[in-house]
Amino acid sequence: MARTGFYPGSFDPVTYGHLDIIARSARLVDKLVLGVGVHHGKQALIPAETRIALLEKVTRPIVEHTGVKIAVTTFDGLAVDAARKHHAGLIIRGLRDSTDFDYEVQMGQMNGAMAPDIETVFLAASPATRMIASSLVKQIARLGGDITLFIPKEAQEVMAKALAKPSH
Ligand code: ADP
Repeated sequence: MARTGFYPGSFDPVTYGHLDIIARSARLVDKLVLGVGVHHGKQALIPAETRIALLEKVTRPIVEHTGVKIAVTTFDGLAVDAARKHHAGLIIRGLRDSTDFDYEVQMGQMNGAMAPDIETVFLAASPATRMIASSLVKQIARLGGDITLFIPKEAQEVMAKALAKPSH
């Protein structure tokens, strides 16, 4: 039976850290659904449709290399509900440090209580990308810093456009 994983996140913007988790989860599943969170009250820099298009573009090499199907979608409710909607038996999360660990394990356990049929799989961040956080990438970009080490070229272009808007 085909195994589907659901990887939820803000991806605002997608980073090399996310791509590392996506590439490694491709070894665990036949299909990966990337859930772009669009929660009310959580203001994103990049519009959801742009984040979707960007994720589709930057994950194409992983699809070509692994043969794993990747679908990108938005969700605005519980991750477990979105996972179930997409017939995913696994929720994938990345762990960078002890802050991620405490929060992610607690959330994974509460999700497990709500949806015992869905297993959360935690992947430890790879050493080369462990320090990358979308929030810091945004701060660095706003201050005119070089973000080429942290996010793919396509994401840099999207960031440049988003930051050029007067509202940001
Ligand atoms: P949010 O924190 O809003 O859910 P993010 O897009 O920041 O969304 O993160 C989504 C998931 O990806 C989380 O599990 C997070 O821990 C993980 N993640 C983020 N950055 C990295 C990274 N550099 N390496 C490994 N995992 C990461």
